[in-house]
Amino acid sequence: MHTPPRVRFAPSPTGPLHIGGARTALFNWAFAKGRAGAFLLRSEDTDRERSTEESERGILDGLRSLGLQWDEGPDLGGPHAPYRQSERLETHLGTAGQLRRAGWAYPCFCTSERLTALREAAQAAKQTPRYDGHCRDLSDEDAAAKITAGERFTLRFKLPEGETVFTDAIRGEVTFAHEELDDWIMVRADGSPTYNFVCVCDDLAMGITHVIRGEEHLVNTPKQILLFQVLGREVPTFAHLPLMLGKGGKKMSKRDNDTALAAYIAQGFPPEAILNYLALQGWALDGETEIFTPEVLVENFRLENVGKSGSIFDLEKFSWMAGEYLRAEPLSQTAERALPFVLAAGFTTEAELRADWPQFEAAVATTRERVRLYSEIPAQLAWLYEADDAVTFDEKAEANARKHGAEALALLGEFAEWVAPRLTAGEDAESLITATKAFVKEHGVKFPFLFQPLRCALTGKPGGPEIADLMALLGPERTAARLTHGARRLA
Ligand code: GLU
Repeated sequence: MHTPPRVRFAPSPTGPLHIGGARTALFNWAFAKGRAGAFLLRSEDTDRERSTEESERGILDGLRSLGLQWDEGPDLGGPHAPYRQSERLETHLGTAGQLRRAGWAYPCFCTSERLTALREAAQAAKQTPRYDGHCRDLSDEDAAAKITAGERFTLRFKLPEGETVFTDAIRGEVTFAHEELDDWIMVRADGSPTYNFVCVCDDLAMGITHVIRGEEHLVNTPKQILLFQVLGREVPTFAHLPLMLGKGGKKMSKRDNDTALAAYIAQGFPPEAILNYLALQGWALDGETEIFTPEVLVENFRLENVGKSGSIFDLEKFSWMAGEYLRAEPLSQTAERALPFVLAAGFTTEAELRADWPQFEAAVATTRERVRLYSEIPAQLAWLYEADDAVTFDEKAEANARKHGAEALALLGEFAEWVAPRLTAGEDAESLITATKAFVKEHGVKFPFLFQPLRCALTGKPGGPEIADLMALLGPERTAARLTHGARRLA
């Protein structure tokens, strides 16, 4: 029997959760859930200057908003706590000492001037800068003397010769010649350990079986594998997810698309749509079905089926999917999620809306066919919250209404009287519209003759929801008031 996998999402809390980071978290989550495994969250906050608590909170909130719940993490604790890298310093330094004693790490006393000169010389010769191993063979006595004399030093990994070959679960066999690497720094002169080093310490301590992360980390993998090996421990399976690219296959940039997950939440993308769309970034269910639940993802997700080449993050398609989710969810959910946007538009108060929630839901229902995001709902409802004597007439709606002349306005007045008792009686939309059509026919005119002035008086818009729905939403008094004021303003 296989032991259940343990995977981790390991963000650095130095900024908002990137949309690509959310995809990494999703694939880790789906992989673990489908195999009764554990999904861990580890906050890689070793960059003390750039890491903030606020950013960590934002990342946790972002994952929660997508429903990606972790099993162990900085807030939850777990068998391998702490899950915040900065709180694990003692273990890291312990491992550094162990590697040094075993001869896999050595102190380097090179000054920053010397290192800069080395780098510049390499650049001038069009070569990749590499540390030249100057302090590699310093004797223990010499090193000890320098340390006693108070010389600052970093701790470097003693890179063996040869190459590192591994099988990436997505990309297949990958080979790195060690000539491409160098004796990299594990612990800085200020005593703080570096990412590649602590990442391995913690993956080891936390029993991580699969490292699933973005392709940008592929270059770190040989360094990390070597560490696992020299520590005499089993190397986890690595899987590098393809890059998410923006328009035209270029690197995603803030100019084309928002890169932060929070921006999409703030724009009113349904979280379920975000999850679904992210699942398609590098993975496909069957090449056809685009809309599926997280359960289906969990059941079908295989690392081998993740693509190697970059995926295109297409905002247009993402927005289309948002609309599909928005229309398919229960109306009560759309109303709840639209609420903050409607409140932000300043039309009315929450208390007012809650006082007649069915009416608000009915209002939202009239918008669902025309929007893709919750944030688009307020603009579709603005007409409803305007004062009845001051509805904003859109230019086109007004021109449409006026072209039928005074007779049409007279008919509007007649219609107002005719419709009032029907609205008061609460006649349903379907029979109201049938009766209204009959009313138009009886008067021997074409539909637009009544409907265009009517629509303008009720909403000030040239198009929109069914007339009967508009009147039902406004109710008898407000409909009557709008018809009276409309007829007066159009006269
Ligand atoms: N802290 C690294 C990052 O945010 C994690 C990389 C990894 O998953 O190993 O990119």
